[in-house]
Amino acid sequence: MNGMIDTHIHADSRSSEDFEKMYLSGIDTVITCGFYPYKIANEIVLLNHLNKILEYDSKRAQKYGLDVKIALGIHPANVDFTQDIIFDEIYNWINKKEIIAIGEVGLDKCSEKEIAIFKKQLEIADETKTKVIVHTPRKNKKEVLIKIKEILKDNIDSKLVVIDHVNQNIIKYLINEDYTLGLTVQPEKMEVSEAIAILDEYGFDKFLLNSDISNMPSDPLSVPKTVRCLERLNYNKKEIEKLAFKNAKDFYKI
Ligand SMILES: [Zn+2]
Repeated sequence: MNGMIDTHIHADSRSSEDFEKMYLSGIDTVITCGFYPYKIANEIVLLNHLNKILEYDSKRAQKYGLDVKIALGIHPANVDFTQDIIFDEIYNWINKKEIIAIGEVGLDKCSEKEIAIFKKQLEIADETKTKVIVHTPRKNKKEVLIKIKEILKDNIDSKLVVIDHVNQNIIKYLINEDYTLGLTVQPEKMEVSEAIAILDEYGFDKFLLNSDISNMPSDPLSVPKTVRCLERLNYNKKEIEKLAFKNAKDFYKI
């Protein structure tokens, strides 16, 4: 049986009860990403956060039946210090096949530091042919996306990239490119109905689905709720399968 894939979560911020609910609701696989929601004193603190996801939180979620895949990287909110140890570790995790993507990375405020660290991680991804999960921010989404696109164009093969948290305001800047696009159904970000409106207009081929459950208001069941809603509305089964798991399987080769 092919279960659903939630393509972007933060297992380190969530409870065992969430993992159990997700598994019982038909989610088989989750991709958990790096992001530390508090200031970081130095790179050892960040490294500890990323290793905790790899060695501890992924196992907490696995205990409830979920197949946990891991994406690690330096989130744009976590860039206020030197990063060399982390870049070395990213190479190690890729070589040991411990991560399926670098993520989440991207830009938030577009500071020089954010841009330099984003570029470096894209270089590593392009060199090692590793997938990248690119975050787009809640604020100034369009302006930041335009900067992100500019940097992606010069630094990485677009087939390696998923641009996440896309919405109706920015989709026209992305739909004709080779990027894979992430739909995040989350309170304060996007309702199920908005996700469906995007699918109605642009089709199912380019999209991955996720909850982005994190320290922010989140719904661990937003992927099954969206999939069930499409089923209830009699959307084509094959199309629903693309969104529920097939696109993610093909993209990540999992
Ligand atoms: Zn996230």
